[in-house]
Amino acid sequence: MDKEMSYGSDYKFIPATSIASGIGIEVLPDIYSYTIQIVNICFVGNPDRNEYVLVDAGMPESAEEIIRVAEERFGSGSRPKAIILTHGHFDHVGAIVELVNHWQVPVFANEMELPFLTGLQSYPEPDPTVEGGMVAKMSQMFPNEPVNLGSQVEKLPSDGTVPFLDGFRWIHTPGHSPGHVSFFRDSDRALIAGDAFINVKQDSLYKVLTQEQEINGPPRYLTTDWQAAKSSVQRLAELNPSVAVVGHGAPVAGDTLSNGLRRLVNDFDRLAIPDYGKYVDGGGPH
Ligand SMILES: [Zn+2]
Repeated sequence: MDKEMSYGSDYKFIPATSIASGIGIEVLPDIYSYTIQIVNICFVGNPDRNEYVLVDAGMPESAEEIIRVAEERFGSGSRPKAIILTHGHFDHVGAIVELVNHWQVPVFANEMELPFLTGLQSYPEPDPTVEGGMVAKMSQMFPNEPVNLGSQVEKLPSDGTVPFLDGFRWIHTPGHSPGHVSFFRDSDRALIAGDAFINVKQDSLYKVLTQEQEINGPPRYLTTDWQAAKSSVQRLAELNPSVAVVGHGAPVAGDTLSNGLRRLVNDFDRLAIPDYGKYVDGGGPH
C-alpha cells in the first residue's frame, strides 16, 4: 500500500532554522508541541496510555527526528494511531512518506485538502514579492508541488469528530489553504490552530530565528484567500481558547492568547493582510 506514495518533484530540504528547533513543550499533560526547524508538530495523547496521534508531519528530511521524539515520549517502538493534518503545505507534510512507511498508520485530512495530498493539484506558487521581509523572499525555494499519499490518506469524518482524538472536533479554517482545519476540545478549550494564526513575527529572518512572539495571521507567502483567513481567525477567537498550539511559534495561553486574538480580529486588515503581494485583492502590488 505504500509503493504509490511520493513527494512532489520540487521536494527538498530547506535550510532554515530557529532557536526553538529541537525543543518540545508539554502544553498540557496530553498535548506536546515540538519544533522542527521553524515549524511545530504536535503529539496528542497521554504518555501513560501509549495511545496518541501526531498532528502534522514536519519539515523535509525530519522523519528520523520525529520518530525519535515519539519514542522518547511514548516508549521505544511506539507508534501513533494516525497522523492528522491541519493542511498539506510542505512544512506540514515534510516527513510524512517516511513516517507512514515506518509506522504503517493512516493519514487524515479535510476532504478539500485531499487534491493537494494525492498528487492531483499543486498549491499556488509561494509569493516572494509579498510584504514580509526575508522569509517571504526565501519562500521562492519552498516546494509547492503536492505530495501523493494515494489511498493512505482519508478524509476527516463529516460529523466533525477527529479519529482517535476523543473530545476534539475539527473546524474548517480556510484561507491559508482551501482545506485547512484546526482542532478544538470543548472540555478545556484547547486549540490546535495549525497555520490559521501563528505566534511568531515573520517580518525578518532574525525574528524567525529568535522566535519573537506575536499572534498574527497565517504565513503570508503561502496564503491566498485573505477574506477567508480573516473569517477563520474570527471563528477561532469566538471559541475563546484557553491555550493554543500553533504551526509556527511558541504555544500561547491565557490572557496573552485572548488579548492577542482580540487584537488580531479587531485589526486583521492592518496586522495580517500584506500591503502588497500577488494574492492581495487578487492582483499585483497596490
Ligand atoms: Zn502552511
